[in-house]
Amino acid sequence: MLITKENLGDGVRRLAAELSSAYQDGVVLVAVLKGSVLFLADLIRALTIVPEVDFLAISSYGEGSGRVRIVKDIDVDIAGRHVVLVEDIVDTGLTLTYVLGELARRGPGSLEVCALLDKAARRIAPLALRFTGFRVGDEFVLGYGLDYAGYYRNLDLVAVGDLGTLREDPRAYVDGLYAGPS
Ligand code: 5GP
Repeated sequence: MLITKENLGDGVRRLAAELSSAYQDGVVLVAVLKGSVLFLADLIRALTIVPEVDFLAISSYGEGSGRVRIVKDIDVDIAGRHVVLVEDIVDTGLTLTYVLGELARRGPGSLEVCALLDKAARRIAPLALRFTGFRVGDEFVLGYGLDYAGYYRNLDLVAVGDLGTLREDPRAYVDGLYAGPS
């Protein structure tokens, strides 16, 4: 295990406090589906401001290629608005660079990133992450929104998985990470 439920809660509350004080005049939170959903749900419940929330879904052409396209766009007109993109994890930064470029073309008043996890060691595209929860190393992580082949997304902790093991058996960590009925 890398980040416990308690530590995740502390990190999310800290980010919510930072956002609440930075955006007293309002903010549009744009979450990238699907990985950011657990983070977003906890984040907005800890805010002391009222955010507008919208979602974006992207599909990538290949792992780490940075070639992505928007498959579900936001409905809110963000022109002139303060916008924060909510992401589960920033790895190479290529996905985020594309999404930020798309949103920037729509003329927001400001555009920042709030990322739960920052895998800074693997960054290819230089990015300024204004709000970050935790730094993680060059490891494949699972849980709290992050999946492998659809598994592990609904865990309330973040754990490290071995990619070789997962490729062989996507369910390899299911018994260990999902506590059975007690
Ligand atoms: P980037 O374009 O920054 O390399 O990739 C970002 C996306 O790749 C994330 O939104 C996430 O979907 C996926 N990703 C990157 N690192 C990890 C990881 O350690 N675990 C999981 N489950 N997904 C990851």
